[in-house]
Amino acid sequence: MKMPETRYSAIVLTLALIVTGCASTTPLLTSSPDGEALCSWQDVQLYINFDAGRVDQCDVGDEGFHLTILPEATPINPSPWYAFQLRSDSHQTVRLSLSYPGFKHRYPANISHDREHWSRLPRENIHINQDGDEAVLTIPLTRDPVYVSAQELVTKTDYQQWIEMSLGAFPFLTTTSLGNSVLGTEIIKLESPATTQNRQGTIMLVGRQHPPEVSGAFSFFAFAEELLGSSLLARRFRKSFSVVMVPVLNPDGVRAGNWRLNANGKDLNRDWGPFTEPETQLMRDELVRINDGGRDELALFLDFHSTFKNVIYTQTDDVQTRPHNFATRWHNAMINAGPDIGLLRQGSHNTDRPTSKAYVYKTYGTAAITVEMHENENRKTIREFSRMAAREMMKILLADNAKTTENQIGG
Ligand SMILES: [Zn+2]
Repeated sequence: MKMPETRYSAIVLTLALIVTGCASTTPLLTSSPDGEALCSWQDVQLYINFDAGRVDQCDVGDEGFHLTILPEATPINPSPWYAFQLRSDSHQTVRLSLSYPGFKHRYPANISHDREHWSRLPRENIHINQDGDEAVLTIPLTRDPVYVSAQELVTKTDYQQWIEMSLGAFPFLTTTSLGNSVLGTEIIKLESPATTQNRQGTIMLVGRQHPPEVSGAFSFFAFAEELLGSSLLARRFRKSFSVVMVPVLNPDGVRAGNWRLNANGKDLNRDWGPFTEPETQLMRDELVRINDGGRDELALFLDFHSTFKNVIYTQTDDVQTRPHNFATRWHNAMINAGPDIGLLRQGSHNTDRPTSKAYVYKTYGTAAITVEMHENENRKTIREFSRMAAREMMKILLADNAKTTENQIGG
């Protein structure tokens, strides 16, 4: 069976090409699960012992595998994640039924032989039952192991490589550990400090509070690369504004292939207020540090996620934010600049919900925005959109900055 119609590279490879300017023939990622298979059917073995590998129960029958996909806790946002690797000694087609007791099939299966190049399993290879709680996948196998995953795997290795390449490509960037997650994984912060005396504040980006939200991760990477890039706009921006980035706030959840929660079973984006979790405590403390000196105080906060649509969740227009009316201006600018991804904007009064957006706005008065990328949006479009979004953000903040400076001189 012929497989990939459209191939899209993982962010790591894309960045590698940008950085080195030439194609690398050596796979950047090697993940070969060792150890025991979770289960076998005829000569096909199914493995989950890699980062984000997840199948909760595996049974086999005459026709193939029966996989049960379960959340880490209930009630929970329905983001049924699965990821496994199949190995076979022969060319054949294997049938896997995925059942989601109490939930529905959501993510289309993505397949890859190398963890870098992914293609979506063709529609005709997926049959979903009427209730939506069971999906039967037909996967063509060769002798090459194949990964089958709800969304592309973007895990610790990918973040490490992205960070290493960013440090190589953008020498002004520094990296430090913010602290540790519940299971002792380092949470990395990347920082680009403003270089002029007349500093205008800090832009903060955070990603991956929710493990399955990979389209948000792709958006984060592209947005960050535009901010850190060599365009005149970005260089001007970085003179006046510091950038602080936390690409992955829930590394334990990502590693476990969780649907939503951290290793303590908490939704991190409902913990900005209670701050019972080490991951959110680190963010709270970092925000205090940023706002401590005055000169580099928080100028904008963006939190990257995925959902069923392209939308930014913002404050409403009737509240004062710093920068003034930023959400409307940014949304309009993005709509005008394109690409057209049907980007919605939803303002919310709900400041008591312990989300990052509500907490940051309530505490600092800064515009705090949740950027949600459609989970099935074309990856190249996400990249193009996110780079544009970063440019429009920089233009608005620099224009405000120029006005402030004029007023100061004039006054
Ligand atoms: Zn989310």
